[in-house]
Amino acid sequence: MESKLYHFQKTYGYLTKINGRRVSLQKCESCSSQFSWSKIYKSFWWAYKPIECGNCGVKHRITILGRFTFVALTMIPMLTFMYFLTPFNNIIATIGTGSIILIIGSLFTPYVVQYENSP
Ligand SMILES: [Zn+2]
Repeated sequence: MESKLYHFQKTYGYLTKINGRRVSLQKCESCSSQFSWSKIYKSFWWAYKPIECGNCGVKHRITILGRFTFVALTMIPMLTFMYFLTPFNNIIATIGTGSIILIIGSLFTPYVVQYENSP
């Protein structure tokens, strides 16, 4: 039992690290308070609107890599499905399912997209 638990913790540890960094929501670069998931998520849908820290008011802009990550997790799975994987002959069903894939992909993006302090 003990070794199983240890193994689980080890595996989970790997899953929660990307490039040696723990997967977590973005923190303010000046006061380290964590931004909420919804705050980051809303920023995407307002054309990557800068996020203002609720604690100290410093603005954070999405990084270039962050934009790329967002597109990679949303548009690419959607377009791949729509062009290559769709089982439907119906364009409406294809677009509908593609949109659901885009929305599901976007739910994870606040955990991986990075923002940086902007003057
Ligand atoms: Zn702050």
